[in-house]
Amino acid sequence: MAAITLNVTPKLNTKAKPLPCSLPKTLPPLNFSRSSFFRNGALIQSLSAKTNQSRFESSRVSSSSINALHSFDVVVVGAGIIGLTIARQFLLESNLSVAVVDASVPCSGTGATGAGQGYLWMVHKTPENEKWELAMRSRSLWETLARETQDKGMNPSDLLGWKKTGSLLVGRTTKESEMLKRRADELSAAGISAEFVSGSELHSKEPSLLVSENVGAAFVPDDYQLDARRAVAYLEKVNRQYAPEGRYAEFYNEPVTKLLRSDYVGEVDGVLTEKNSLGCKKAVVIAAGCWSGKLMHNLMQDFNVMLDVPVKPRKGHLLVLENFNSLKLNHGIMEAGYVAHKDAGLGSVSDPVQTSISMTATMDTSGNLILGSSRQFLGFDMEMDEGILNSIWERAGEFFPTLRKINVENLRNSREVRVGLRPYMPDGKPMIGQIPGLPNAFVAAGHEGEGLSLALGTAEMVVDMVLGNPLKVDPSPFTLQSRSH
Ligand SMILES: Cc1cc2nc3c(=O)[nH]c(=O)nc-3n(C[C@H](O)[C@H](O)[C@H](O)COP(=O)(O)OP(=O)(O)OC[C@H]3O[C@@H](n4cnc5c(N)ncnc54)[C@H](O)[C@@H]3O)c2cc1C
Repeated sequence: MAAITLNVTPKLNTKAKPLPCSLPKTLPPLNFSRSSFFRNGALIQSLSAKTNQSRFESSRVSSSSINALHSFDVVVVGAGIIGLTIARQFLLESNLSVAVVDASVPCSGTGATGAGQGYLWMVHKTPENEKWELAMRSRSLWETLARETQDKGMNPSDLLGWKKTGSLLVGRTTKESEMLKRRADELSAAGISAEFVSGSELHSKEPSLLVSENVGAAFVPDDYQLDARRAVAYLEKVNRQYAPEGRYAEFYNEPVTKLLRSDYVGEVDGVLTEKNSLGCKKAVVIAAGCWSGKLMHNLMQDFNVMLDVPVKPRKGHLLVLENFNSLKLNHGIMEAGYVAHKDAGLGSVSDPVQTSISMTATMDTSGNLILGSSRQFLGFDMEMDEGILNSIWERAGEFFPTLRKINVENLRNSREVRVGLRPYMPDGKPMIGQIPGLPNAFVAAGHEGEGLSLALGTAEMVVDMVLGNPLKVDPSPFTLQSRSH
């Protein structure tokens, strides 16, 4: 696992810069503080540079294209699954008003969410892992959400693409099978119904799967999947119900460009987009997926704080074959090697892209076969790569012999290709918590290939942090403070 490289480096600059933009209010004399930052858990700096000679000028943005100030309690930056679930949680659990801002529109082909395959599985998660508790909490919140839609007379399958398929994590070598037996035991001990299956039992569960000698699988019967795009549409619908009472608004196609803050040590007063200034009385939450690092770096520069968080885009392809009848799947299926690929570190100098393909196969509620998936470090590149799609298809054929008889070229008219950028963190954990030096600014990003599954637990954690509620899950593995150096 790559070392954590979270650098929170406040840069002391006694020549205070005027704010790039601030809200209309009388500003106090400059009270520039280097504030307090933690390294290795210890307070390393508390340097205060108070000066009375320099005074902030309230420099308003003069561009006529910027609209008047809109004021909310909370501004959420990013309308992927993380931002939208955070907005929903605020709307349901408080009386606060919420604005969601996005550089684009949800699932528009830029972020990760619209490309997500939709499995919310526990089969490939590890009970000793620091994310386990969050994953368990999230799973339970997703179950509750699906149940509640049903209780309200709606169909979670239609609304969310919700499906209890169960999942099989498949190994093809003795070593992998041994590992999967242990995994099934560990999952059972941690309270998840799980068992190891092989031979005729595995064949009867999943007849299309090639079951030869040594093939075995960890089976979790209660695992779920959803359709990320339907889930997003549903979340937007729920959130918009609060719009008529003035508690919710969306600002799409408006990249956030600046944080508004009236002095260097105080709270964030709002954000500036390319078109609007949005005040936030309570909190701002950065949930901009793989853009969060770059965005936070740029936003914090205005306050002479260098905040480098190492979230990186990790490109992924999915191949969706519409109304696919040649193969039937009874469960969600993933190869055992997926776990190692997911956890692999950043590319090396000799192999910076680090392409990996691991077989994941799901069938959605519309009968589409979804095959994944690839992982590559290619910056923010979003180009579809036919070579990667062929590799995904060939890999799937190793597990499902029926596919080898089909020429994938003949499926071009009935295929959809999804490309997305997973927000990768070198230590494999999302960042959830307050941003050092900004008392009312929070981040929720870096969920890599687990953002759909971890979304509801993340949203609950962020909202409880902002509201000062007791936390349901220990947040310490995820905070920036615990990982800065
Ligand atoms: C191929 C693939 C398959 C996957 N399968 C699964 C799966 O089965 N299960 C699972 O749990 N997870 C899966 N994932 C991972 C999951 O999709 C992500 O972890 C999750 O979508 C991340 O959500 P997010 O909201 O953090 O980021 P995103 O969805 O990327 O959203 C971030 C948003 O921030 C916006 N933004 C960026 N900059 C700015 C700015 N300056 N101002 C305003 N807005 C901005 C972007 O436009 C974007 O809409 C998969 C991912 C991929 C790519």
